Amino acid sequence: MFKKVDLGYSFDALEPYIDAQTMELHYTKHHEGYVVKLNNFIEKQPELFEKSLEEILSDLSVVNSEILTGIRSNGGQVFNHNLFWEIMSPDAGGEPKGEIATKIENDFGSFEDFKKKFEEASLTRFGSGWAWLSVDESGGLVVESTANGDNPLMEGRTPILGLDVWEHAYYLNYQNRRPEYVSAFWNVVNWEAVNKKFLEAK
Ligand code: MN
Repeated sequence: MFKKVDLGYSFDALEPYIDAQTMELHYTKHHEGYVVKLNNFIEKQPELFEKSLEEILSDLSVVNSEILTGIRSNGGQVFNHNLFWEIMSPDAGGEPKGEIATKIENDFGSFEDFKKKFEEASLTRFGSGWAWLSVDESGGLVVESTANGDNPLMEGRTPILGLDVWEHAYYLNYQNRRPEYVSAFWNVVNWEAVNKKFLEAK
């Protein structure tokens, strides 16, 4: 059975940037719903329980066609939310540290230039989706966005930072003001966790 990661902080820990009610609904209702649906779809092809979610999403050709859409959407969302909770923390924000800091400067010019690019990806994603910082096959950093539950694994890249830009992630607190939510996000990014993911992906 696939599971959600433990949150590691309380629902109100990321306030005022992400409010407690949004966190609670997001984690206990939205994310939970994707987990339940994913497991129900995989019951129809149980050998997939032997694979990791990363393995399945990196090679969706292993999935039977009648459950492909269900696995792609719900499996994508389970993976995406697990990553999202992991790369945020109440004792976070500020500038990146470790190897990822140097790599961001090398690949984007500066942290500010990277932030601009990431915000643009978040704001130009029409409708529901995600913005990402990913590592490509040659070890370079890529900023990108994906629609709905898709993610960079499906394109052969490894995501190390992700931002949920579905309205359910911000609407209660920010209503239609996605730009405010996106700029608030920088205050809760756990660069230590991102750096760890970067070192694993290399
Ligand atoms: Mn979400």
